[in-house]
Amino acid sequence: MANIINIVLDIPIYHSFDYSTPVGFKKLQAGVRVEVPFGKRKLIGIVISKKDGASLDNKNKFDLKKIASVIDEKPILDKKIMDLCQWSSNYYQYPLGQVIFTAIPPLLRKGRVIKTIKQEKSNHIIDSSKPPIILNQEQNLVFSKIKKGLNKFNSYLIEGITGSGKTELYIKISEFIISKRAQVLIIVPEINLTPQTIKRFEKYLNSNIGAYHSSLTESKKLEMWSKCKNGEIDIIIGTRSSSFLPFNNLKLIIVDEEHDNSLKQQEKFRYHARDIAIVRAMKNNIPIILGSATPSFETIQNCKTKKFVKFELKKRFHKTDLPKIMVINSNIDEPIDGISNELRKNIQKELENKKQILLFIGRRGYSNALICKNCDWISKCTKCDSYMTYHNISKTLWCHYCGFRKRFDSTKLCQCKNNSNILPVGYGTEKIEKKLNDLFPSSRVMRIDSDTITNNKKLIEFIENANSGQIDILIGTQMLVKGHDFPNVSLVGIIDIDSGLYSLDFRGLEKTAQLITQVSGRSGRHQTQGKVIIQTRKPNHPLILELLKNGYKNFSEKALIERKEALLPPFSYIALLRASSLKKNDSQNFLENIKNYFKNDNNVKFLGPAPAPIAKRNNRYTFQMMISSLNRKFLLLKSHQIREYILKRKLNNIKWSIDVDPIDLY
Ligand code: ADP
Ligand code: ZN
Repeated sequence: MANIINIVLDIPIYHSFDYSTPVGFKKLQAGVRVEVPFGKRKLIGIVISKKDGASLDNKNKFDLKKIASVIDEKPILDKKIMDLCQWSSNYYQYPLGQVIFTAIPPLLRKGRVIKTIKQEKSNHIIDSSKPPIILNQEQNLVFSKIKKGLNKFNSYLIEGITGSGKTELYIKISEFIISKRAQVLIIVPEINLTPQTIKRFEKYLNSNIGAYHSSLTESKKLEMWSKCKNGEIDIIIGTRSSSFLPFNNLKLIIVDEEHDNSLKQQEKFRYHARDIAIVRAMKNNIPIILGSATPSFETIQNCKTKKFVKFELKKRFHKTDLPKIMVINSNIDEPIDGISNELRKNIQKELENKKQILLFIGRRGYSNALICKNCDWISKCTKCDSYMTYHNISKTLWCHYCGFRKRFDSTKLCQCKNNSNILPVGYGTEKIEKKLNDLFPSSRVMRIDSDTITNNKKLIEFIENANSGQIDILIGTQMLVKGHDFPNVSLVGIIDIDSGLYSLDFRGLEKTAQLITQVSGRSGRHQTQGKVIIQTRKPNHPLILELLKNGYKNFSEKALIERKEALLPPFSYIALLRASSLKKNDSQNFLENIKNYFKNDNNVKFLGPAPAPIAKRNNRYTFQMMISSLNRKFLLLKSHQIREYILKRKLNNIKWSIDVDPIDLY
């Protein structure tokens, strides 16, 4: 009799499919890829060990379709990774097939056969040309404590102030793991950070260190994936997609900058790489280390409840004090084109002293929007509830939400035609760059954002130029500040923090405090104490004052009390249900209906539906509804029930998604 096997496909369907294998065929193992007929197409599927969800094929065994071919001799994913995918699928309410296909490199999704390469065992010869890592006393203390718990599952947090030398500590611990012929996975939030971090590891270690991130070519991804699996790589430094890499002998996971929001995927399979990594470590019974100067509130809470063990690095490695912070009241010292009088004077002084200045601004482009002074026209996007940003260099108006772009021509924007009086409102990196060039014509200004740094080569080039003293003023967005170490920067200017202070998102303050601390931390890291200037219209915000006076730790203590009183995460668990439709009422009704159907359960609460912050986006109206519970299990159960309920309904052109543990609510 034919064998029945369960297969998942890379399609948005939540259950597995039954197929039969030819008579006499040996049972296929889970993790093997096969080709199967599906409707009129042939698709690649992965064999799983048990049925996932209720199979829709209630057909008689003998009517089952046969698989077309078997691609792999041996499973491409072992049981542990298959289990991790199953867990992720249940937790994030995303179809198992799509989770697994996200977890493998693109070429494998397309059916590329893996060549079995002869394994060259790498020899770990100690290369005497590499310097030993010498930790300071504080680092060493943490190292010796962590070293004792490296043989089993443990979650550690290293809370180390900016410049305290977390990276060197990671290197030292990794060296220890590698000496046992095991592998280390290091997850970092940004591609930008991988080349730098690799360089720092290579300075000390004579190991095979590889990068894994989205800008690798497809064949490079497959190569790294295979090397990892075969044990030819000792350390992987990668972005969130590396959380699913197969390893031969993984014995440690490190998640650097664990608070960083880019660790969470914001579309499709909305997983958080840190949380997946913790589950992976638990399943594999290996340790995990999270590192940050500004831990997320979730992680702080996990330390309090003793789920995680916390270690602290309180001193900067180069012994400079944390920078002096000065707050400018923008209501009094009104910034002109983003620069207040005090900030301008300070920049001048640093330039005279031949020091480097770093200016942070949250937005790229020239101005938020354009207006016409004559007719009150404003550059609103026609497809979204948002303004189109003006980019001066490329002379375009660009909607950062739907991507719509149009060429700037002042005579064609509004009814005034040739008589228009177009002015920019608000500012972005381009405008600040222009302002500084006007103010300090002899200084060398460099703008760093996703418009100027389009690839890794440019980033490396920029960092070299910045560190060899060829740039005086660095202006940039997030990209400029994340994790970088610029030894010569002595003044940091934060152009404004106000949008974060009064954000509708309950995490707004947490994010602003992390940003201020991280950006400030770029100042005076090596030789002398640095300075930070923050411009704001709300200089007396109590929690920000707490942050500036007593640091992130005291700030977070106080802010956590507010979260607790409001029963918001980490004191409750939430999921966000989003729905969009072409007609305004459709998505709203869709969510109302779900709420009405499920609201009689006291274990969960519904909030909304309410219009999404950008309610109209690319011509679709988006509404959202928050589901919250004091118990994670109840939240997951409800999310699952809602999902099943939606799947049974007819959707009139409604797109929907469930985001478990969302981080961007607004
Ligand atoms: P963090 O990531 O904690 O903000 P870094 O890891 O960037 O800090 O360390 C700050 C600076 O101190 C870097 O220039 C780093 O190379 C240096 N440093 C830290 N620890 C050591 C060490 N043990 N030996 C040599 N240099 C170190
Ligand atoms: Zn738009």
